[in-house]
Amino acid sequence: MFRVDLEHRNKKAHDGQRKRERDVDKIVIVGAGYAGMMAATRLQRGSRDFTMINRHEYHYLTTLLHEAAGGRGAPSHYSVPIRHILDKPGSKLVVDEVVKIDKEKRVVVCKSAEHEYDILIFALGWIPEYFGIDGLKEHSLVLRSLNSASHIRDHIEDQFRQYLDDNNEEHLRIVIGGAGLTGIELIGELVDWVPQLCVRYGIDRSLVDIQNIEAMPTILPQVPENLREVAMQTLTEKGAQLRTNTKIVRVEKDVVVVGDGEEVHAGTIVWTGGVRANPLLGEAGFTVDRRGRAKVNAYLQSVDDERVFIGGDSAWFEGEDGKPAPPTAQMATQMGKQIGENVLALGSGRAMKAFEPDNQGTLASLGREVGVGNVKGIPVKGVVAGLAKEATKVKYLWELGGIRLASEKTGQLVHR
Ligand code: NAD
Repeated sequence: MFRVDLEHRNKKAHDGQRKRERDVDKIVIVGAGYAGMMAATRLQRGSRDFTMINRHEYHYLTTLLHEAAGGRGAPSHYSVPIRHILDKPGSKLVVDEVVKIDKEKRVVVCKSAEHEYDILIFALGWIPEYFGIDGLKEHSLVLRSLNSASHIRDHIEDQFRQYLDDNNEEHLRIVIGGAGLTGIELIGELVDWVPQLCVRYGIDRSLVDIQNIEAMPTILPQVPENLREVAMQTLTEKGAQLRTNTKIVRVEKDVVVVGDGEEVHAGTIVWTGGVRANPLLGEAGFTVDRRGRAKVNAYLQSVDDERVFIGGDSAWFEGEDGKPAPPTAQMATQMGKQIGENVLALGSGRAMKAFEPDNQGTLASLGREVGVGNVKGIPVKGVVAGLAKEATKVKYLWELGGIRLASEKTGQLVHR
C-alpha cells in the first residue's frame, strides 16, 4: 500500500515538473543589451534552451559609447559577438528587428519572421526623448548605439576637414544638449580628443568651441554638489564651455536656438537630453508610465501578463522608496540576472525571488583618466574615480564572459 502511494506521488511530481517545463518551453529574449545578455547567460548556465532576438549579431557596451564617439578606441573594442557568449546548442540567436509584441497571441513579430513564446523576456532598452522640441529629432545626432557613436566620431572629423576647405569656423563648433551623465561623459571624451584632431589637421585649438547646453541650474544632478563643481572645473580647464540655465527650444539644420532666442550655429549637434523606454510595450497595451516603461511586479513580471518579464530601461520597477529604478546599466544588469534566475525557478517549480536593487553608486568619467561620482555612497574624484570606472567595466566583462573575455577586452581598452 505504502509503495503504491509513493509511486503515485512520484508520478504526480514528475507530471507536474513536465507540465511546468512545457509551460516555459519556448523562451524568447528580445534585446541583447545588459539585461537581455545577463538573463541569457543565466538560462544557458541552467541548461534552458531559448531564442535571443537582436538587431545585430553583437552585444555592445552602452556605458562606453562616449569613448567610441570620442575616438578613444575602434568600435570593435566596445562590442562582443553574441555567439561567443551564447555558445551552447540550445542558445539560439536570431538577427532581426522586433516590430511588434502580440500579447494575446503570445507572438513576437519581427521584420522577417514571427516567434511564438511561452515566456517572453523583454529587454529592448531605450530611445531618445525629444520632448516635442521642434526640429530636434531631424537635426541632431544621438549617442544611442555603436553605429551612432561611430557616426558622431566620423561626423566631427569630417567637419574638421570641411573647415580646411572653406575656413568656416562653425564647422569647429560642437554643441552637446543636456548635461546628464551621457552629455558630460561625451564632453569629457571630446576635450581629450579634440587637441589630437587639431594636431592631425593643423588647426589652432582655440578655434574649436565645445559647448554643453543644459536647461537646469546645474550639471550632473546625480552626483553631490561639491563633485559637480569638480566636474565643471575639470572640463572648463580642458577647454569646454558648460552653459547652465539655458534651454534648447528649437533646432534647425546646423543651428540650436535657446530660450532667449540666441542662435548657436554649429557643425555638430548631439542631443543627450533624456531617454524613454522602447515604445513596443506601450503599443502592445501594457501599463506604462510617462516615460513608456512597463509596470512590473516584485519578480519583474509585467503586471498585465505574468508570462512577460521586463528588464532594463523598459521596466517600471518601484523600489521600497516608491521611486522607479533608474534606467542605468547596473540596474539592467541586476534585473537581467534576476529574470534569468526567476525563469529557471519557474521551469523547475522553485519559488521565484523578489528583485532587490543594490545601488553600487554612480561614476561619470571626465575624459581618459579622471572622473567623479560615488562608490557605495563614498564620494570619489580624479584618478580614483577613473580607476573605479575601469573596475566596473572589468567586473561586468568577467560576469558576461569569464576571465577570457575580461582580459581580451580590457587588453584592447587599456592599450589604446
Ligand atoms: P538625463 O535625463 O539623465 O539627463 C538629460 C539632461 O538634459 C538633464 O540634465 C536635463 O535637464 C537636460 N535637458 C533636457 N531638456 C533640455 C533642453 N531642452 N535644453 C537643455 N537641456 C535639457 O539623460 P542621460 O544623461 O542620457 O542619462 C539617461 C540615463 O542613463 C540616466 O538614468 C543616467 O543615470 C544613465 N546613464 C548613466 C551613466 C553612468 O552611470 N556613467 C552614463 C550615461 C547614462
